[in-house]
Amino acid sequence: MVKKDGEVLSCSFCGKPQNIVKKIIMGPSSNICDECIDECARIMAQEKPIQEDVVAAQQAVIKQQSSTTGPELKTKKTINASKLPKPKDINKFLDQYIIGQDKAKVVLSVAVYNHYKRLFFKSLEFNDVEIQKSNVLLLGSTGTGKTLFAQSIARLLEVPFTIADATTLTEAGYVGEDVESCLYRLLQISDFDVEEAERGIIYIDEIDKISRKSENPSITRDVSGEGVQQALLKMLEGTVVNVPMKGGRKHPGQEFISVDTRNILFICGGAFNGLEQIIENRLNSRSFGFLSGSEKGSIDKHSIFKHVQQEDLLKFGIIPELIGRLPIVAPLQDLDEAMLLRILKEPKNALTKQYQKLLNMDNKSLVFEEDALILIAKSAQKRRVGARALRSILEEIMLEYMFEGPTSKSKIITITVKDVEVYIKHQLSVDIQEELLGENSTVGAKK
Ligand code: ADP
Repeated sequence: MVKKDGEVLSCSFCGKPQNIVKKIIMGPSSNICDECIDECARIMAQEKPIQEDVVAAQQAVIKQQSSTTGPELKTKKTINASKLPKPKDINKFLDQYIIGQDKAKVVLSVAVYNHYKRLFFKSLEFNDVEIQKSNVLLLGSTGTGKTLFAQSIARLLEVPFTIADATTLTEAGYVGEDVESCLYRLLQISDFDVEEAERGIIYIDEIDKISRKSENPSITRDVSGEGVQQALLKMLEGTVVNVPMKGGRKHPGQEFISVDTRNILFICGGAFNGLEQIIENRLNSRSFGFLSGSEKGSIDKHSIFKHVQQEDLLKFGIIPELIGRLPIVAPLQDLDEAMLLRILKEPKNALTKQYQKLLNMDNKSLVFEEDALILIAKSAQKRRVGARALRSILEEIMLEYMFEGPTSKSKIITITVKDVEVYIKHQLSVDIQEELLGENSTVGAKK
């Protein structure tokens, strides 16, 4: 064929004119000959096994590294419809590990049940009604159990689980991690079994730290705040994300694995410092209509998150689109002394039980005086980091016993009030020392 202007038609790829090839196919702006088509087909055929090889290699590396510990929970089995626990079962399971937080337990039990029900039954009779994805937002001060919730759900359902820190994420192209990095970690945990990863749980911590700087959209680029919120939107809603095979940044020529995030449950958590004030202001300004005079004065600061509304989150700096993708909000309350005491003793893997187990391995019995535990709970409360403080206090108190215990002659080790007092005197500020040792009349620890 000869073009209108007399020029001979040629292949845009190899440059051969039409008269020396069998066929040329014309496109709107370029042409390709039969030889180049064959060559392309050959490359494509080679490409697939290469990708499979890379996946296999990745899986081998992961298997080798399976002993490395991280925040992720590695699980092998996967859930199926018949094994899916009902909300009450989920709640009961959570009770074994989490003290208090009853409201959050109910909210999360229902949310998780519905999420996985949607996943298992989507191919059955309900497919005319599309059940939308419902990610969860956990609101609660630091150390109140947000991560523990996400971890416990993943443990119950035996699905892959990973934790991402929103503060390390940045908008693609900027210093920091791309939002896809958490999908790569989920893939690693699932031994690069994409199907398994696609039904996992991702906990995004510190989501409050990526609030935008003001309530209005920013004019300048906010790559670690609003920019990350924007980047998270699609992933949370459900989309196919191309995750770089080797993790890290995307760059040309890299291999990708496509991960569909439609069935991944995202649980976001944050302490939302300052949100209390926003909620309180709103409640107080509406007190004429909604709260009586006495109610107004009695808003419980420790459980104020239970009054949260979407408008408060907006004021806090979460963009409306992200609020819309986190429709389920589970508020956690601050832990009081009684809850902290129970946390020390009751959960299946309570701290005191862990130390007892460790010393049992050396044939020693470890006993905690009840008053000592009470004083530990009181000290923890003063530190204002929730149950997190319990661990650091116990670590400090137990260090000497863990050092001497295994070789000591006595069979029974008792942690007394005196041990806790020593900790208080050495580690806590003078004000707190006075408060604790002064008020602690039940244990007779007054100086
Ligand atoms: P955060 O809310 O900051 O994510 P975590 O869930 O990481 O807090 O909790 C910190 C520590 O305190 C963990 O060891 C966890 O087991 C313990 N903890 C926190 N809240 C509770 C709770 N309500 N019941 C039992 N343990 C708790």
